[in-house]
Amino acid sequence: MRIVLLGAPGSGKGTQAQFIEQKYHLPKISIGDILRQIINNNAPLSKQIKSTIYNGKLISDEIVTELVQSYITKIDYNLGFILDGFPRTISQAKMIENNKISIDYFFELKIPTKIILERIQKRRTGVVSKNTYHLNNSICSKNINCTNSIQRFDDNTEVIKTRLEEYNKFTIPLINYLNNSCKKINYRYYIIDGTQTIQNINNEIKKILN
Ligand code: ADP
Ligand code: AMP
Repeated sequence: MRIVLLGAPGSGKGTQAQFIEQKYHLPKISIGDILRQIINNNAPLSKQIKSTIYNGKLISDEIVTELVQSYITKIDYNLGFILDGFPRTISQAKMIENNKISIDYFFELKIPTKIILERIQKRRTGVVSKNTYHLNNSICSKNINCTNSIQRFDDNTEVIKTRLEEYNKFTIPLINYLNNSCKKINYRYYIIDGTQTIQNINNEIKKILN
């Protein structure tokens, strides 16, 4: 299964990608995680990438498509994968089409802006596990040590405004483009209410994939 997760920042793509990865043993390709790894390793371009992410802008299509291409060629993509946060622009979607990689499922998570802001402000990432949590989530008080977690450097109210503008400017047109393509090519495109509980969204996705 080749799966793409779409949605605004904070809509729950990473959370659902973690679930699908564990449940279906599919490799997860999260572009945001790959970019943050490049920054942490001080790799070439890391300064440029950090300042672009810090300003809430999208990284150029050239850099991102090259990265995805290098990751996808490392795995046997016929066995499937989850793309979390790619494509985000029409030009990125065309890179997938040009490489003749067919996508089996698109899941678009929809949530209103006011919930996005709350989720982004309370998102934390485990230092060791790299998993994502919400500060109010009961999982924090149960079995995960959330004191050993950090807040992403781009998760603040000012930056999120620009990230949402970028989403409206580039990703909404992509979603319209995909929906038009769906009618022609018969993609399976599902819109999911992202305001449901994590568990309910897991179940909805599971039902579709099963
Ligand atoms: P994205 O990858 O789309 O930016 P995340 O998966 O990182 O979003 O989720 C953003 C924040 O919201 C995280 O703190 C996560 O734990 C929390 N979250 C994700 N899905 C839900 C949900 N359905 N209900 C409540 N909180 C959620
Ligand atoms: P995310 O972890 O998905 O929230 O992404 C964090 C940041 O990484 C975004 O705000 C962008 O700056 C950058 N990024 C992630 N995915 C892409 C993409 N497909 N195209 C361009 N920039 C991206």
